[in-house]
Amino acid sequence: MRIRLRVIVLSISTISLWTSALLAESQFLSESRQLEEVLDSVRSFRQPLLSKRRIDYSPRAVVERLENISGARRRLEAIRWHDWPISQRIDYLLVRSEIDRAEFEYRIVRPWERDPGLYVDMVRDVAFTELPASGKTLENFREDLRAIPLLLEQAREMGVGLVSARVTEVDVTSNRVKGIRFSNGRHVRTQHFVNAAGPYLNDVARMLEVDLPVYNELHLKVAFRDPKGVLPRNAPLLIWTDPQELPWSKEERDFLAEAEDTRWLLQDFPPGAHTRPEGGPESDIILFLWEFQEKIMEPVFPPPMDDQYPEVALRGLARMLPELSGYFERSLKPQLDGGYYTKTRENRPLIGPLPFSGAYVIGALSGFGLMTACAAGELLAAYIVGADLPSYAPAFSLDRYQDPEYQKLLANWPDSGQL
Ligand SMILES: Cc1cc2nc3c(=O)[nH]c(=O)nc-3n(C[C@H](O)[C@H](O)[C@H](O)COP(=O)(O)OP(=O)(O)OC[C@H]3O[C@@H](n4cnc5c(N)ncnc54)[C@H](O)[C@@H]3O)c2cc1C
Repeated sequence: MRIRLRVIVLSISTISLWTSALLAESQFLSESRQLEEVLDSVRSFRQPLLSKRRIDYSPRAVVERLENISGARRRLEAIRWHDWPISQRIDYLLVRSEIDRAEFEYRIVRPWERDPGLYVDMVRDVAFTELPASGKTLENFREDLRAIPLLLEQAREMGVGLVSARVTEVDVTSNRVKGIRFSNGRHVRTQHFVNAAGPYLNDVARMLEVDLPVYNELHLKVAFRDPKGVLPRNAPLLIWTDPQELPWSKEERDFLAEAEDTRWLLQDFPPGAHTRPEGGPESDIILFLWEFQEKIMEPVFPPPMDDQYPEVALRGLARMLPELSGYFERSLKPQLDGGYYTKTRENRPLIGPLPFSGAYVIGALSGFGLMTACAAGELLAAYIVGADLPSYAPAFSLDRYQDPEYQKLLANWPDSGQL
């Protein structure tokens, strides 16, 4: 009988030990879940964002984030963690140090109030997106681009000033660049100067008494609405490479032939009318470009427009896309703008050193400067940092014009059909 009682007493205490172990286990599980939740909210301190990667430092967002940090700390302190196994205690301390770090940044360091470089880095970083991009990457890239004006606005609100001035002088001593003077009177000491002045490439080069073999061509561009979908949205760049006469009706021809200032519209026009869709599937814009009159000139801004350009370009492109003729009478008002192609005579850019130590040029990028920007920048950077140059470097350096072989090549340069 005694023995039996003992067995019963023993089994009751085993059950209670087992139950309390279960209770401790479930409490530990629930508290470690709480730790995970705190960790999630710590991760969200970097929100709300201007884009998925650009942080919003507006006063409202900063106050909100400080409240989140305090809330996370309160929830962390409510967790009873001292009896946890060592590896979980380490997790707890890591989450706490993350909260400490965020609080230090948001209460003490406050870089958005003190460091203009923060904004510069966030904006500059966008340029390191790998292109071409698609899907999520493209979506993030677009979001980043949209965030840039907001970031600049925040920077201005925090007192970051934008200093805008033109380079007016390059100081050179003993054939070495020593500094740059600006139109606002400021002088910056530097040993490196890159002339990347686009249409003003030669004006800036002349500050160094260098004359670059470049000129500027006026190029106009029409943004035209195509609600009939004549050009499919997935069409590539289309170029008409034959010379042509513009399509006019008999009455129109007779009318144009009457006046001196309209007769030129009946002449032969050069090849090169080109078009492509602009924007995604939701857009109905197409772009027209056609330099039917070569206009070499000194750059003036805004560039002079030509009101007849949209109609001439439309008719020129109707040779290639006859359904565009449906817009001859009724087109939605086209947008005309333009700029300059800065070119060398053989239409190869200038990338490399100028004849002064520390001075470089990158320009004459003609009508392909956006497409070639990365490769052109990489080549120039290789010169500046003294890295190995690629085999094609001589084809773009200013020195090429000193080479008699290159001069011979230039003399017989074929028409490459470049636009
Ligand atoms: C109508 C049109 C359509 C085009 N379409 C395409 C296209 O589809 N694809 C393509 O790849 N390319 C295209 N281009 C060409 C492209 O725009 C150019 O090749 C490119 O912009 C040239 O870049 P850049 O940096 O050399 O010059 P720019 O972009 O002109 O920049 C030069 C900069 O230097 C500054 N500057 C000048 N003088 C001074 C000074 N003294 N002090 C300080 N700053 C100075 C200017 O203010 C400017 O900001 C097109 C051009 C035009 C006109």
